[in-house]
Amino acid sequence: MKFSRRKLLWGAAAGVALGAGGYKLLRGFEGDAAATLAATPEALRRAALDVHVHILGIGTGGTGCWMHDEMRSSIQARAGLWNLRLSFSQPDLDQRYVAYLVDRIRSAGFLKQAIILAQDYVYDQSGQRRAGVTPFYTPNDFVARLTAEHSEFLFGASIHPYRPDALDELDRMAELGALVVKWIPNVHAIDLSDSRCRAFYRRMATHNIALLAHIGDEQAMFVAGQEYGHPQRLVAPLEEGVTVIAAHVASLGEAHGESHLETLAGMLPRWPNLWADTSALTLLTRWRAMLRIAERTELHARLIHGSDFPLPPAATLFFGRMAMGKWWGAWKRENIFRRDFELKQALGLPPEVYTRGYEVLATRLAQI
Ligand SMILES: [Zn+2]
Repeated sequence: MKFSRRKLLWGAAAGVALGAGGYKLLRGFEGDAAATLAATPEALRRAALDVHVHILGIGTGGTGCWMHDEMRSSIQARAGLWNLRLSFSQPDLDQRYVAYLVDRIRSAGFLKQAIILAQDYVYDQSGQRRAGVTPFYTPNDFVARLTAEHSEFLFGASIHPYRPDALDELDRMAELGALVVKWIPNVHAIDLSDSRCRAFYRRMATHNIALLAHIGDEQAMFVAGQEYGHPQRLVAPLEEGVTVIAAHVASLGEAHGESHLETLAGMLPRWPNLWADTSALTLLTRWRAMLRIAERTELHARLIHGSDFPLPPAATLFFGRMAMGKWWGAWKRENIFRRDFELKQALGLPPEVYTRGYEVLATRLAQI
């Protein structure tokens, strides 16, 4: 099922445009790393962990990355790359993407490291690979190699649990230092509460690998079903002792008259191993949820910083929602990690949110 394509396309284009406003301004314009560092609170100078950063590519230089034609030709992908000063015509696109990412992490001023994420293919119920409904694929081995080459990166694997070799691949990725397994259940068509996932969860718990799952509705291409994103489905991995990070604080969608965000919030007191990442909250599609979450201070102790790079924060939308000087400071930032950080800081997310990823994943970090 495609999820209101036209609306999404325009939304994505507008999202990129609203990252700032006007030419040059479209992408922000202030990128002085030294000034950025000077403006960073002491406690956060290169101390933060971003748990949600995507690696995308098309396979240049033998990376093994792949992108569906429909995604490659979409406005989202083209505008997204343009925002990073990249394009599909570059023969070394995958390498440029990584170089850009490393540079922006280093110059963000507050980031020590980022968990970079692989993205597995979609598999059907019978364990068959379904490339035709997979928006993009980023191999585990490529991401693992990048983490070995760059101290700024930590490894987020992606393994579809319906794969016939899922458990073996999980063991192999544990060996390579995976901290989390990333799923987008709505796209991967993974029923988190399916009994066949239980063995996978138990093995994850054995390795102390956390589950980073997109929760709530998804607006990407090839959504298999929004019901896969219901927060209650996280009970299964939690019961098996897995540390779970619900991406985006389940900020889109609802069921039975209750927003997924509220359902997730209601689960937090019962499950101490349940966390929520703040990725994508400053985007065009989720900025209202960001305002709500900022006000809900009782949730802040369970939030973990994430950006959802390369998606661009829409600073313009937060005009009037914070002190003018802070808004302007964020709006003009070329570095999208920095723009996202300044918006969230100005809205009142406490400093602990940015370093909490290290605490939540401490057991696993000590093993790798
Ligand atoms: Zn994401």
